[in-house]
Amino acid sequence: MRPSPSRFTCLFAASFISITPYTPQQFLTLAKSHTAVSEKISILKRLADSFPLDSAARQAHEEMVSLLISTNRYEEALLEYRKLHPETGAGRAIDFKLLEMLLRTGRYSEVLRAIAALPAGRQGPPGPERDFLRDMKLLELRVQALLAKGQYALARECVGKWLENYQADGSPGSRFENDVHSIQFLARHLATLERTQGPVGKALFTASVPDSLQHWSQRPNVPIVFFKLIPAHPAGQLAAPLLPGRHEGADYFEDRVADLNRGFDYVSGGQFSLRFAGVHTLYIQEGDLDPESSGGHLLTSRVYIHTIPPLYKLAGEAYVVLLDYRIQADGEAAYMGDGLIHLSANKFKTLVLMHEILHGLGATHQEWNALEAHGYHFDPEDRGLMTFVHGEILDLGLEEKNRALLGWPQVGVVRPRFVSDEEAAAPAETTTTALAPASVATTAELIPSL
Ligand SMILES: [Zn+2]
Repeated sequence: MRPSPSRFTCLFAASFISITPYTPQQFLTLAKSHTAVSEKISILKRLADSFPLDSAARQAHEEMVSLLISTNRYEEALLEYRKLHPETGAGRAIDFKLLEMLLRTGRYSEVLRAIAALPAGRQGPPGPERDFLRDMKLLELRVQALLAKGQYALARECVGKWLENYQADGSPGSRFENDVHSIQFLARHLATLERTQGPVGKALFTASVPDSLQHWSQRPNVPIVFFKLIPAHPAGQLAAPLLPGRHEGADYFEDRVADLNRGFDYVSGGQFSLRFAGVHTLYIQEGDLDPESSGGHLLTSRVYIHTIPPLYKLAGEAYVVLLDYRIQADGEAAYMGDGLIHLSANKFKTLVLMHEILHGLGATHQEWNALEAHGYHFDPEDRGLMTFVHGEILDLGLEEKNRALLGWPQVGVVRPRFVSDEEAAAPAETTTTALAPASVATTAELIPSL
């Protein structure tokens, strides 16, 4: 039994009223020490509203926006952020945080309009005509907004124009060689999409935009399909002990789905479950889907996965797990949008796959480091499948912020053991930190990483 949260809130509200009025500093101290995030936000909001001219209040307002973003409350975050930053800016002062929030809240047309009006400092302080990194970030935002509107040909044209301007900056050995290489691959993938699906097709969501699966948290029997990615050249495979499922048929994968369902039955209170819907094999050429072909850019690999025809067909209709048996995929676990999950065979573990599936439902990592550095305290017991412990996921449970998003009940945090995971784990397997959020590209800074 637990005390109900509403009773806590009432008690807190009573003490809050009896002690006011506060100074800004007292508000801030209270916000930092209170462990319930929603209460922190209320206190900071009250501080910002009560002392609009105070410098501490302004900082509190920024921190409140960070808390809103970190707890998946993007609409409120956007509303609050715009009070102090109404314009997307231009030239040297482009507000990427605002642009990313617009993208994250599905305001694609607004993103495209804002970016079209931007370069060369038509408003605000003038910026340089050419700025490689600025224009690459703008290009990535634009491509994501266009794909979310199903505009494949326009996305391909945008990338083509960008390459006309910047291709020459990617000469061998230069600082931007990898970036240019990646954008060239992006252009190729978009051309494939246009050729196979037409200039306009179904909306594609690339994990940084509101996802097509986000309304499925209370849906039973969501289909899940597995694709084994096997190198076309057998020499490029992971070593034999690390190949869970490599030579297995449907039964093996059904057992894994049963494990996933045991976990989800617990954390969702019986509201969400999966249904095994097949296992297939895809042979993959060298140069497709690897760090060299994406240049480390998440967007390029996310778009590539969407272009594989059987995956394009399933995108947004089911969970699709790409189980990668190639050496270069070692340690990889990434959510690509629209239910597509890229998983290295040696990361094929129940908790890891649950984590990626939760991304599809809209759950985000729990990361308080930046706010803790500013003196904020958080409840150490509030952790679960979206919290990393030294780069690994160990706890079956769900954070309050994700529970609120998915409408799932509060459950105790446990350290489970799944039988099939034990079989899969080779004795020589070392702990990796490949799942740690550090590998996420720089443009994802604002949004809790996936
Ligand atoms: Zn993640």
